[in-house]
Amino acid sequence: MKNPTLAGVVLGFLGLFGALQAQAQHAGGDQHFAATDLRAQVRCPEVPVDVIAASVDERRLVCSAVSEALQLLRHCEIFPRRPLVIQITDEVRHPFGRVIFGLFDPRDERIWITQFGTISSLVRGTPFSELPQRELYKSIVVHELVHGVMHQNAKRRAITRSAYEYPAYALQIASLTSSARDRFLQTIHNVASTGDFVFNDFILSMDPFFFAASAYEHFSASANGCAHLIALLEGEAAFISEVPSLP
Ligand SMILES: [Zn+2]
Repeated sequence: MKNPTLAGVVLGFLGLFGALQAQAQHAGGDQHFAATDLRAQVRCPEVPVDVIAASVDERRLVCSAVSEALQLLRHCEIFPRRPLVIQITDEVRHPFGRVIFGLFDPRDERIWITQFGTISSLVRGTPFSELPQRELYKSIVVHELVHGVMHQNAKRRAITRSAYEYPAYALQIASLTSSARDRFLQTIHNVASTGDFVFNDFILSMDPFFFAASAYEHFSASANGCAHLIALLEGEAAFISEVPSLP
């Protein structure tokens, strides 16, 4: 396995997504989020997901991503059990204060995502900056929605951050167009084709981009990648190593 990328090392410590584990949610509540206008909550067409966004275009973009995420999950016979709400806000902050792409809050099954216009500044200097911005944004929605639906279907809580993040990253990268995905994977210089897959919280913390690429490669390399997701729902995923999480 090659060393994690430098950008990944830096951003791994900074963090990309919040709500890394359902049992490790932010304790302080909504004060972590910037003030948001009261906006209409509108249901996406034909799916049990409501979106609160500042514009019709933003809502359509999010609903489009929602449809793709649910399609990927449906392929694995994983379905939403209850309605989910996605709230687009000026910025989403990690419990430690930094701005992040988004997070899933299991307390009220609500997804918070930083507005589209802010994402470009968050990905600057990272492998994600290579991706078309709207496509990247949709993949961020996919990531968080996978967290939400997996949470609704989990028979056991994920006991490691990497077990929690594997499905979100695998399907996030799967949701990209093939050209964007190839570009991302080439940037990472993933070596997953050697079969050298290692998933643990240390790698996730050191380089979430490498973890994301590896999760996708591992998921797609199997004849039945869905079995990995089902195993995670059962809490029996042997391919995730249990190592102590970094603080
Ligand atoms: Zn995540």
